[in-house]
Amino acid sequence: NEFSLHYQPQVRCSDDKVVSFEALLRWNHPKLGQVSPARFIPVLESIGLIEEVGGWVLRQACRQLARWRRHDPELRMAVNVSAIQFEDPTLVYKVATSIESSGLPPDALELEITESLVMRDFEQTLSTLTRLKELGVGIAIDDFGTGYSNLASLARLPIDVLKIDRSITSLIGDEKGESIPTAVIQLSQALDIDILAEGVEEREELDFLRARGVQTYQGYYFARPLSVSALEERLEIGRARKTLKKVS
Ligand code: C2E
Ligand code: MG
Ligand code: MG
Repeated sequence: NEFSLHYQPQVRCSDDKVVSFEALLRWNHPKLGQVSPARFIPVLESIGLIEEVGGWVLRQACRQLARWRRHDPELRMAVNVSAIQFEDPTLVYKVATSIESSGLPPDALELEITESLVMRDFEQTLSTLTRLKELGVGIAIDDFGTGYSNLASLARLPIDVLKIDRSITSLIGDEKGESIPTAVIQLSQALDIDILAEGVEEREELDFLRARGVQTYQGYYFARPLSVSALEERLEIGRARKTLKKVS
């Protein structure tokens, strides 16, 4: 019971409406305190526990979304899936049962897989993604721009969203570097894939993304990942308001 989930809002650029959340795993160790997932997830993978913990994340995130959708039925949830989980032959079945048992429509869920995972075994990835798409869940490529992507292969995958990594978003405002986020946005528009910009911390970054037609963003500028209770208070879920908008 030391694991919990925090949720970070994913926000529509055009009107600042919260449209989705990303579930982020937290480990509060009795002696070490909060341990970063960047540290403990590779450990869970190496000791063979990621499938069990990842399954719990999936079920928990789906249950939480079902509760929030009573207040706003359009809300969605994004869940990270690691490379090892992705290779699990029962993944599609686990995803299907998590959705069914929480009573969600499949398109309420989006799975985030990293760019480097996609290229590990392209044909295998394509086959698993195709089965997940048949189920009806959304697929996002996480940390886009940090790994080696075979762009020709990327175009063959059934992808709904490219999540541009913070390292690319943070180039906004840099005279020379700015051409990189611009090019990534143009690439995704040419491929007809939506963009979500990660790690938006500044107003200036958001203005840049809006001006270029980016659909969604996520980052400290709007909200950090928060516990269920902190988020409900912050977004006033379950009170008089019907949609979730920024409350400052
Ligand atoms: P990620 O999926 O790319 O998640 C985004 C990370 O960026 C999160 O770190 C989030 O707290 C952080 N972040 C969000 N907004 C900002 C911002 O404006 N500025 C900056 N500097 N950072 C921001 P976190 O929660 O520490 O997670 C790190 C990574 O651990 C995640 O990267 C993901 O790869 C992995 N992870 C977290 N939860 C899970 C999980 O349930 N399953 C799996 N397989 N991996 C997970
Ligand atoms: Mg992610
Ligand atoms: Mg990311």
